[in-house]
Amino acid sequence: MTRLAVIEKEKCNPNNCGNYLCIRFCPVNRTGKECIIEGEDFKARIQTELCTGCGICPKRCPYGAIHIINLPEELDTKIIHQYGDNGFHLYSLPTPMFGKVVGIVGKNGIGKSTAIKILAGVLKPNMGGEKEAEIDQIIEFFKGSEAQNYFEKLKAGDIKVSYKPQAIDQLPKLYKGTVKELLQKVDETGQLNEVAERLDLNPVMDNDISKISGGELQRLAIAGTVLKKANLYLFDEPTSYLDIKQRIRLSKFLRELASKDTAVLVIEHDLIVLDYMADLAHIMYGKEAAYGIVSHPKPTRTGLNIYLQGFLKEENIRFRDHVIAFPDKPPIKDKARPILAEWPVLKKQLGSFSLEAEQGSIEQHRVIGILGANGIGKTSFVRILAGELQPDEGEMKQLKVSYKPQYLTSDNSLVAAKLKDAARHEVQLMRPLDLKGLMTKRLNELSGGELQRVTVAECLAREADLYLLDEPSAYLDVEQRLELAKIINDRLQDSGASALIVDHDLLFAEAVAERLIVFDGQPAVHGILKGPYSMEDGMNTFLSDLNITLRRDPESKRPRINKEGSQKDREQKEKGKLYYQ
Ligand code: SF4
Repeated sequence: MTRLAVIEKEKCNPNNCGNYLCIRFCPVNRTGKECIIEGEDFKARIQTELCTGCGICPKRCPYGAIHIINLPEELDTKIIHQYGDNGFHLYSLPTPMFGKVVGIVGKNGIGKSTAIKILAGVLKPNMGGEKEAEIDQIIEFFKGSEAQNYFEKLKAGDIKVSYKPQAIDQLPKLYKGTVKELLQKVDETGQLNEVAERLDLNPVMDNDISKISGGELQRLAIAGTVLKKANLYLFDEPTSYLDIKQRIRLSKFLRELASKDTAVLVIEHDLIVLDYMADLAHIMYGKEAAYGIVSHPKPTRTGLNIYLQGFLKEENIRFRDHVIAFPDKPPIKDKARPILAEWPVLKKQLGSFSLEAEQGSIEQHRVIGILGANGIGKTSFVRILAGELQPDEGEMKQLKVSYKPQYLTSDNSLVAAKLKDAARHEVQLMRPLDLKGLMTKRLNELSGGELQRVTVAECLAREADLYLLDEPSAYLDVEQRLELAKIINDRLQDSGASALIVDHDLLFAEAVAERLIVFDGQPAVHGILKGPYSMEDGMNTFLSDLNITLRRDPESKRPRINKEGSQKDREQKEKGKLYYQ
């Protein structure tokens, strides 16, 4: 066995833990040896060779900063990169393949960004040693695999990488000017007009970057990446803030980008879209902040099923103790509940955009998903419910609303200050959202996923009649999304409140909601709210507007998009069963 002793330095807080609690409780230290010592940076440091793996220090550390992990010995020879003595370990790398879209699926915090930086040549791997490895060592390491070909090209200077980072919310802080000006600046291919057309950016070309929506920012970031001349394109979560139609269009666009001279690598947590987009998939598994292992590439269907199973048969490795399962039948319709709020026909004119809501109601203690295109009035309806906007026609009872906006903002303030109410909900929020270790950080130091968890906790901690969460799944990994669905439902159990969840990930919508509101109409022109419906009726209404059907994978039961016009697509449309079969 190889033993890893990892300390998350930013969580280690000796002044507040009781003066190096881990040192005081370590049984090896008690015999007079120095297994855990005070490091030069005043954080705890573990001398791995003295550690017996007793497991006491991870339990004692109040901040969850220590991880002691036993791994199979053969991994010793496979280490690609290690961050310092007690730092994160990365084993192996994903393999870009020319002519293919290769997907990467896995938890947050297990080295996807490190892997991408190594492929991009931004980070030189050290193969577990103290010095950066020479390129020939790396080629030798990957001898006989597809990656050998890649690193040989990298050595010859034949690889040029273009990378779209995850956090597109930062773009307006980094660049000034209009969408067109930015794209003109980065265009090395001379294909600006074609790319803008494919990514539907023409209507916002003259808009200032600081004024465009998250979905537009995402498409701008993708366009900027594609307009650079490169032969490896890396996309970190390219679908956040895009609606389903845009996700499907983007999938087709990225598939066309892959050619015999071009490789495309995509990190994505929307499994329905990744399945549609990628030819092959790597599974990344491990322990957050401690180590990450990259599986061999698998055909996407098989790879995603293995990921949901949590078991790699060929390697005989179980990386999750439970299977992620999906229902293949719609939920049984339960009894009606007392009404929390109802609305007559509502109308609201907002500049050239008109919003109309059919008569409807929200029951008490109910989670309702909201599906619809971007720019179709979802946020405006939510603002009417929150009392921020008055309808022109129709009246709404004022509710006490707690609102999580779609776009996340951060500043220099402490997470602890933002979570002072949430801290009272240890079992319901702090523990399941894994927030304790973030309390001493500043908001602008958090990753996208961490900031999302903090913002969701802040929203759910407030007392309210109705929780409105706008795209809470953005930047969360698959497991965090499913956990969040449970957290929201548990919170409502206690408070008796209801929740409206706007989201574009259909798997998350299925996991979190019992009813669906569907928006129809034409983005930026006219939006019509319909429902709430039962899940089955809601999904059918939503997908028939999009002209999409989804079949169930026979093994994992996860939904997969049917090819338009295929036999399955035609059959399901005839039966009117577009989502559940
Ligand atoms: Fe204290 Fe935990 Fe740091 Fe050890 S690792 S010094 S117990 S905060």
